[in-house]
Amino acid sequence: MEPEEVLKKRWGYASFKPLQREAVTAALEGRDALVVLPTGGGKSLCYQLPAAAGKGLVVVVSPLIALMDDQVAAAREAGLAADALHSNLKAAPRREAYDNLNSGRTELLYVSPERLLAGDLYEVLSKRLVLAAVDEAHCVSHWGHEFRPEYRRIKEALDRFPSAARMALTATATPAVREDILAQLGLRNPEVLIGHPDRPNLVYRAYPRRDQFKQVLEAVRRHPGEGGIVYAQTRKDVERLAARLKEEGVSCAPYHAGLGAEERRQAQHDFVNERLDVIVATIAFGMGIDRSNVRYVIHANTPRSVEHYQQESGRAGRDGLPADCTLLFSASDLAAHRWLAQKDFTLPPERKRALEKQLKDIGRYASAPVCRHGLLAAHFSAEYPTAAQGGEGCGACDVCLGETKGLPEGEARLTAKKILSAAWRCEGRYGTGYVVNLLLGRPGERVSANGHDGLQVFGILREAGEPAVRGWIDQLIVQEYLEVTEDGEYPLLRITAAGRALCQDRGEIKLGLPAQPAKGRKKPKALRLAGSGVTEADEALFTRLRAVRRALADKAGIPPYVICQDAALLEMAQQRPSTPEALLAIKGMGEKRVQKYGGVFLDVVAGRDAPAAE
Ligand code: ADP
Ligand code: MG
Repeated sequence: MEPEEVLKKRWGYASFKPLQREAVTAALEGRDALVVLPTGGGKSLCYQLPAAAGKGLVVVVSPLIALMDDQVAAAREAGLAADALHSNLKAAPRREAYDNLNSGRTELLYVSPERLLAGDLYEVLSKRLVLAAVDEAHCVSHWGHEFRPEYRRIKEALDRFPSAARMALTATATPAVREDILAQLGLRNPEVLIGHPDRPNLVYRAYPRRDQFKQVLEAVRRHPGEGGIVYAQTRKDVERLAARLKEEGVSCAPYHAGLGAEERRQAQHDFVNERLDVIVATIAFGMGIDRSNVRYVIHANTPRSVEHYQQESGRAGRDGLPADCTLLFSASDLAAHRWLAQKDFTLPPERKRALEKQLKDIGRYASAPVCRHGLLAAHFSAEYPTAAQGGEGCGACDVCLGETKGLPEGEARLTAKKILSAAWRCEGRYGTGYVVNLLLGRPGERVSANGHDGLQVFGILREAGEPAVRGWIDQLIVQEYLEVTEDGEYPLLRITAAGRALCQDRGEIKLGLPAQPAKGRKKPKALRLAGSGVTEADEALFTRLRAVRRALADKAGIPPYVICQDAALLEMAQQRPSTPEALLAIKGMGEKRVQKYGGVFLDVVAGRDAPAAE
């Protein structure tokens, strides 16, 4: 069977996503491959399809035990003979997995690195193994953000199966990480398949942070009843935000490493099974989350690097439907990250320098009034297509949507000079608050005692208001015209050499002015953006289909997205299939799924389910 036929029959998809076919072909022809595709790019299919092709056994090494069972469930929904072997397995499924493996029934086997390295599987695997896939392959690299020492030993195991092809998969890989993967896993003359990092269905927004809770709540309120993740910096922030969101009636739970294992497991489980809309978490949360209909990710604090941001925000919209990523920026977050790194004596100087650059990059991303899709693509050394088409913009970030406006060049320069000269006047002896007061013309004891109320800059930005002035100061810090220095106890604001040069019109400056985001949207985002053809009746049907899917999932003990994706339900709501054949034509509904759930969905579409649903 051609790969396309397998794709249609098993998964119900009419065509491959970018580079999937190349990856599948390499595997089927026994060649090694490195596959770099963004989150939601469809990496699983690259090794699952070869398993479905019936040539032999495919083993997948994955660091995420928590995720394995869901992956196995999803593969089984596509009709694959899939199992997992890891330390958390109960006796019965473990025995079954071994039976299947020994009798040669298994097509796809997920293992943890430890499980593989234990060695006792080598013999049975060596008989049938055609492909060894290593998922989350960036974990082999020191340069990555999730280094796992045991990943360094995977090659030992792979070398036991010289005739099996190798496939390494990851979502984020800078050139250094890529090199590391190729070397550490011993890929032999590999096909290197690097996809475009852009996620066109994500709408990126970055705003200066003014009132953290209020801004978070606003962003949450745009998505009633939908899944979202709120990331905050510290455990305390997480607890506080979660408690206040709960007070506002938001269905949410906190998640951080300080909570008990059981509490964390429960929160994750409820979120994945759609019993909870929002998780408020530190970055401890996420690696093991495959809920595909996360409709928004909010960063209440600035993350440590663009890589972190891409990884964390990337958990939104894996199903390809529109999703929102909002970052609340404050230069003080960067200072906090820097402070933590300075304190860490185990960090070698070159790591500290790398961190410094990372902070600068994320600061620039979050505060420059420049297309955010474009900036992200550039960060990962990729061209951004629409930027080349006459500066039309992406249509999917606060800048291109006209929510954040860049000040015209002349005005930006003038504004910057006003702020810089105030800082210059203060000679680096005061904090940001003091300089803000000066610019806003707020009288105060210290200001008058210093005679600063008589300065020319006193009140020179009164009209602009505090939020704008603070935002500009952050932008000037990120662009290195100002710096914050720690002098004993207090952070002090100081003009840099570049700042002094800018005052003499040497240097480029960009300043943005955020407008208010549109708020109070009622309709689920997924529907609004899926196309103008979605009617109220479609929407009502979609909601009913989701409820029925949840009931099915509850009964089967698997997450709803494993049954089928939101995108498939949405298409059903619009197409209203009335026969199993028509249902098969819906994207993502393969033969097995139609067999198992077709009747139920067809009943809902036909309105025959009234008492059963909800
Ligand atoms: P990744 O591991 O790259 O983040 P997944 O393998 O989890 O991505 O796939 C993301 C989503 O894309 C899944 O819902 C999957 O069913 C869907 N998908 C995979 N391949 C295709 C395809 N060829 N056409 C449409 N959807 C696909
Ligand atoms: Mg994946």
